[in-house]
Amino acid sequence: MMSRMRIALLALALTFVAACAGTTAASPSPTPLATSTTTASSAPTAAAAATQATTNAALACTAPAAPLVELTEGPYYKANPPQNATLRTAGVAGTPLTLTGYVVSTSCQPIANAKLDFWQADGNGSYDNSGYTLRGWQLTDQSGAYRLETVIPGLYPGRTEHIHFKVTVSGKTYTSQLFFPGVSQNASDSIYSTQMLVTLNTATSPVTGTFTFVVNVA
Ligand code: FE
Repeated sequence: MMSRMRIALLALALTFVAACAGTTAASPSPTPLATSTTTASSAPTAAAAATQATTNAALACTAPAAPLVELTEGPYYKANPPQNATLRTAGVAGTPLTLTGYVVSTSCQPIANAKLDFWQADGNGSYDNSGYTLRGWQLTDQSGAYRLETVIPGLYPGRTEHIHFKVTVSGKTYTSQLFFPGVSQNASDSIYSTQMLVTLNTATSPVTGTFTFVVNVA
């Protein structure tokens, strides 16, 4: 009887020790608590996935962001260009350029289905005024992103390197031009705006550039 009691007491004692050990192991508090908090907030929830595009676009600008500077359309726009995001075709003169980015509001919210209409000179500074080479429009995707395959435009008399564009959001069209860093003619071009400078990476092939179009909507 006594030995059964001892065994029972021993078992009870062991259970207590085990319980204490378990409690101790589970509670090395601050770090695990912090970890579990982080995990909870970064869990791949539907809401997180839905806001990923917003995050990406927000990284492209800091709210409130200044809206793009509207500049003259110039004389070479042709109506009814094709829907085409790949303007660079075989035989077109110029250094290949892939330009990417977002169309966002002044609060850096991405804008899906914004219409971006680009037109430009080729690498020799010549526009195709009889056809639609280096002319085309595209819509931003659901994350507000665009991708333009083109060439770096050349110089023509009186103008530095530039790409013309119109961006249309909710029926309102903003017309302006993009410019390139490090071009000496920027300084003497009366239309040039530092706020419309593409960020360029010439170490890649093709050369890559980024630009975020901020339109004047909240
Ligand atoms: Fe032009």
